[in-house]
Amino acid sequence: MAYDNNNVFAKILRGEIPCNKVYEDDHTLAFHDIAPQAPVHVLVIPKGAYLSMDDFTARAGDAEIAALFRAVSTVAKMVGVSEDGWRLLSNIGANGGQEVPHLHVHIFGGKRLGRMVP
Ligand code: 5GP
Repeated sequence: MAYDNNNVFAKILRGEIPCNKVYEDDHTLAFHDIAPQAPVHVLVIPKGAYLSMDDFTARAGDAEIAALFRAVSTVAKMVGVSEDGWRLLSNIGANGGQEVPHLHVHIFGGKRLGRMVP
């Protein structure tokens, strides 16, 4: 599957639609999910055009990969979930339930989360 430049996160990255930004650096953007599934629900995305984690680790440079994971921890601290615990999730492809075809990781927190069962 080819990367679709018209996906909603590509539009957010181009500034064509707004987002509630939490954090940004050279490689990464984080913003609140539009339909939060927990008291804290933030999405962290690479600025590069990557479909999924598999695509990202295959094509991205080490600096981009490191930046994404460092940003995740930075954002968790910024939104106040670090101390009590939180969940990191990335849906990948059709079976994984990925709706937006631009790599994103979800940060969930702010309450005791239920156990995740497929
Ligand atoms: P997925 O199911 O692909 O892992 O998650 C996509 C996430 O993107 C969903 O949680 C959905 O609520 C969120 N989302 C979809 N469109 C927008 C949008 O325009 N802005 C924001 N902030 N989040 C969005």
